[in-house]
Amino acid sequence: MKNEEFDFDANTPLEERDDIIVCKGINKWYGDLHVLKDVDVTVKHGEVVVILGPSGSGKSTFIRTINALEEIQQGEIKVDGIDLSNDVANIEAIRKETGMVFQSFNLFPHMSVLKNITLAPIWVRKWKKKKAEEVAMQLLERVGIPEQAHKYPGQLSGGQQQRVAIARALAMQPKIMLFDEPTSALDPEMIKEVLDVMKTLAKSGMTMLVVTHEMNFAREVADRIILFDEGKIIEQGSPTELFDNPKHERTKLFLSQIL
Ligand code: ADP
Ligand code: MG
Repeated sequence: MKNEEFDFDANTPLEERDDIIVCKGINKWYGDLHVLKDVDVTVKHGEVVVILGPSGSGKSTFIRTINALEEIQQGEIKVDGIDLSNDVANIEAIRKETGMVFQSFNLFPHMSVLKNITLAPIWVRKWKKKKAEEVAMQLLERVGIPEQAHKYPGQLSGGQQQRVAIARALAMQPKIMLFDEPTSALDPEMIKEVLDVMKTLAKSGMTMLVVTHEMNFAREVADRIILFDEGKIIEQGSPTELFDNPKHERTKLFLSQIL
């Protein structure tokens, strides 16, 4: 059975699917600071990858390289077959394929929820307003807050704002969703509603890269976990491999501090 939304067969086992993200030998510096060191990562269509690691280890920098929010000095990144060199046309093509959700929701405060969601599809995808609004309403249903469509971000709770941010990213019909600590700015009682939306999205077959400290989410939802430390990948594997049988001292130390 072909997945309705994505261009891969959801019944094909993960290891037999094609790669959608290929990063080879990525190195990045901020001035003298070497922040990404020989990072190699490949991600399959429909795979959910959770990125863990201490603060300052390069997690945000890494996921931001995937939609060219950060430039790299060495290495190659291919997203859905498009080479992310510094070619502006390629960068624009990739940004259309990748949705990003940040810790601080980054909604436009002076626009209604509906306007926030329809803006990019109307301007970038050139959709008619009516179609964009229909799709936006379907997405608001999907994230559980259709009744908030005509409110402004400031009138919503943090959890609701983050769900709008997810709907807004999905409105561009991305093939990949990047999440950078999406629940870190939320009060505890709102974390679950956002994680639940992300879980449903993962089950629907979306390719996702998620930086998070939510270990239960990682264990339950991730196909693979990657541990970063000091700009390097220390270890990667399934949640069971990484949590129950970590191989590296660094991983054991990190887990002992966080769990
Ligand atoms: P993480 O997301 O794992 O906390 P980051 O990717 O944000 O780590 O940061 C990695 C390192 O790069 C840190 O030492 C951080 O201080 C540094 N850094 C991040 N952004 C910049 C920047 N724009 N300019 C200079 N240094 C930066
Ligand atoms: Mg970060």
